[in-house]
Amino acid sequence: MSAITPIATTDYFIQLEAQYGAHNYHPLPVVLSKGQGVHVWDVEGKRYFDFLSGYSAVNQGHCHPAIIAAFTEQAQQLTLTSRAFYNDKLGLFEEYITQLMGYDKVLPMNTGVEAVETAIKLCRKWAYEVKGIGKNAAKIVVCNDNFHGRTTTVVSFSSDISSRKNFGPYTPGFINIPYNDVESLQKVLETEENIVGFLVEPIQGEAGVIVPDEGYLHSCKKLCEKHGVLFIADEIQTGLCRTGKMLACDHEAVKPDILILGKALSGGTMPISAVLANDAIMLTIKPGEHGSTYGGNPLAAVTAIAALKVLQEENMAENAEMLGAYFREELRKTPSALLKEVRGKGLLNAIEINSGIEDDTAWNLCMALKENGLLAKPTHGNKIRLAPPLCITSEEIKECIFIIQKTLKEIE
Ligand SMILES: *Cc1c(COP(=O)(O)O)cnc(C)c1O
Repeated sequence: MSAITPIATTDYFIQLEAQYGAHNYHPLPVVLSKGQGVHVWDVEGKRYFDFLSGYSAVNQGHCHPAIIAAFTEQAQQLTLTSRAFYNDKLGLFEEYITQLMGYDKVLPMNTGVEAVETAIKLCRKWAYEVKGIGKNAAKIVVCNDNFHGRTTTVVSFSSDISSRKNFGPYTPGFINIPYNDVESLQKVLETEENIVGFLVEPIQGEAGVIVPDEGYLHSCKKLCEKHGVLFIADEIQTGLCRTGKMLACDHEAVKPDILILGKALSGGTMPISAVLANDAIMLTIKPGEHGSTYGGNPLAAVTAIAALKVLQEENMAENAEMLGAYFREELRKTPSALLKEVRGKGLLNAIEINSGIEDDTAWNLCMALKENGLLAKPTHGNKIRLAPPLCITSEEIKECIFIIQKTLKEIE
């Protein structure tokens, strides 16, 4: 074993991870040690604007004082009971989030993908016990280029080769259709038997911020209603004010039958996810049929309430809506041959670079942005997601637009 000289530099920490950690990520070479609001600092003390926000887990901004205060206080009281016993915080969270989102019940989990798994299990249970589908026949429709997480079942219906390859055998019971294609959904609902759910991202984040046509979600919801199929929205990335409304589905006044939340539900402090549904669906799962040791722990319950309150009290949806529109408008005016498209909703945006998916222009642009004090990461080759914390001010976003424009000029 080769010892790595312990000097607290960027190189040292990168070497440590390379030697002792699994190589399941390829991070930008920056080592962060501090965050506050829209900013993060590296171990050399350089400050950056964070335009990834932990894949929208840090919507409220890094180390938001109100969230950290609630978290810290509860951490000194009681952190975990398991669901073998009651705790005095979970019910308060359940009441808070169901009233805020308008559902009868919530089922708390931890990571996003666990909430997706929970939604799939709920949908299947409902299919057999309420809809009356034959044993093991239930099928759930999903979209091409989806991202719903990394478990064996969820990668089973991914269309991304690197997520799937050599992880089989895959879980059956899913049908893939093109995204943003109402007719495909209609066709599959009319021709296939035993469809029980439609699982969809209101905007495809990982795929490169693919915003569907206006009316898509609404039309899909109507079709689901017509065919007695559950509309399941994965709002893990799009929800919680990121796109300029509490939920991305709110833009089309669509209420999902099953709503999946995660990421910013904790403001970036710990994994907290949740599945919301009404009684006819939620109560199909009985005691002992599903659960999680950490799901619904009191530390998470308190933290999630604080995280949700910050979003509302600081008008983060309105800020995202307003500054997002300004951001896209300004970037679209940028005279750059590299800039193929600017798209998004609220503060969930992406630029597509004029280059092949395989070439490294987007990566090089992100490296140059890093030098200029702004952190972003390419997704699917030539797309760069630009999603700052929602506490960003108009002064700050102007500065960031300037950095991006300057960097584009340098790279051209
Ligand atoms: C991040 C994400 C997930 C998975 O969440 P994890 O917490 O990483 O398991 C699922 N769906 C969407 C849309 C996501 O953005």
